[in-house]
Amino acid sequence: MAVLAIDIGGTKCAVALTDASGKIVTSEVAPTPPDDDAETQWRALLSLIDSTVGAEQVEGVGVGCGGPMTWPDGVVAPLNMPGWRDGFPVVARLRERFPGVPVRIHNDAIALAVAEHWKGAGQGVSNMIGMVVSTGVGGGLILDGRLINGGTGNAGHIGHIVVDPNGPPCGCGGHGCLEAVARGPALAAWAVDQGWVPGTPAAGPIDPELTERESAALYRENATATGRQLAVDAAAGDQIAVAAMNRAGWALGLAIASATHLCDVDLVTIGGGLSQAGPLLFEPLEETLRAHARMGFSSRVRVVPAALGQEAGLIGAAGLILGGDRYWSP
Ligand SMILES: [Zn+2]
Repeated sequence: MAVLAIDIGGTKCAVALTDASGKIVTSEVAPTPPDDDAETQWRALLSLIDSTVGAEQVEGVGVGCGGPMTWPDGVVAPLNMPGWRDGFPVVARLRERFPGVPVRIHNDAIALAVAEHWKGAGQGVSNMIGMVVSTGVGGGLILDGRLINGGTGNAGHIGHIVVDPNGPPCGCGGHGCLEAVARGPALAAWAVDQGWVPGTPAAGPIDPELTERESAALYRENATATGRQLAVDAAAGDQIAVAAMNRAGWALGLAIASATHLCDVDLVTIGGGLSQAGPLLFEPLEETLRAHARMGFSSRVRVVPAALGQEAGLIGAAGLILGGDRYWSP
């Protein structure tokens, strides 16, 4: 049995065929065209799919895609895909291309949570939150061994737990959400405000012709997914970058303590660029979490780095098909 797994993102799309166990047999990745025409973006995805599938018979299609979306019917409006921002019926289009087989979609963060539960750090755990800390902060919720959807497929949005009522504005329209504090670009902007010059002391200013201040200004203009650089600089001993990791760890610890009390989970996995920071992130996270998760049941929660790498999104997408009703119960 071959399953088609699709991971749709603003910068790249990945497509894979997996066997019945979820093992990736073949995969292809291509940049997402930065186009504001919906059909151009669809044709690029379709050609990636066609070249991956070849003559293979596909028995199911699983998709992870950036939100928001209507679920489960799968009209997607990813914030970082201009062509689809007004809503694109990607599930309906895939049903036309693959008639008669199940086509299932979920938020990309939920796909990562499914992947970690199915094949990663959460294997054998009945209750967990799978988180990703990257350009956004997202998550998926597994309780009693099953993915929890909520009323509209949006359960697990841990990125919008408020960690600081007086905190920075959030893309959701609120302010002080975990995502507003701990997403890579927000954390980098905070660090730049504190005087951080990315790439130092490990690699020097990004352009030797520029003063540190100019360099920081240029960097801020170009800031996109910068949590990874921050993690690198913190590991190299940059004190502002270390302070930024403390800030992220504090915010994550608060949100995880709250979510643990609400959901009674055993485990939280954290993936994405920032989790690469290792103890620099996880130690302040643990300190805050232990200060706030003090009841007998909540103190048992463990927080670990996600175990799966770049292919996690594809594995989670395949899990929507191959995991049976554990991961698909709209
Ligand atoms: Zn928010």
